[in-house]
Amino acid sequence: MAVFAAVLLLPKLQIDAKPKIFYGTTNEFTVYGYCACKKCCDKSDKLTYTETTALQDRTIAVDPSVIPLGSTVLIYYEDSLIGIYQAEDIGGDIKGNTIDMYFENHSDALDWGINDCDVVIVDAKG
Ligand SMILES: [Zn+2]
Repeated sequence: MAVFAAVLLLPKLQIDAKPKIFYGTTNEFTVYGYCACKKCCDKSDKLTYTETTALQDRTIAVDPSVIPLGSTVLIYYEDSLIGIYQAEDIGGDIKGNTIDMYFENHSDALDWGINDCDVVIVDAKG
């Protein structure tokens, strides 16, 4: 009887269709490299959705329902370096815990490829 009561007292697991983002804490994202070329997004003017000019080491594209546009985002690399990025752009394929990281040229975007990274949203605008 005591065991049965203990099971009932366990917190209920929350099943949530939407990814949960915790500001200031670590979240895992899949980070893709992209550039402005025809293969990636075909935007020779490099103009982002928020009307900034895309810049390497600053611009990331996000799902704005997960990371509000204008947010400052820390991305931890595999070698424990940290990059500081701005959520400035969106994209049709960027859904949920997915980030596109902007590079000035296609070969650098390919070099980055696809990486699972720990991400901390330090300043959420929106
Ligand atoms: Zn490209």
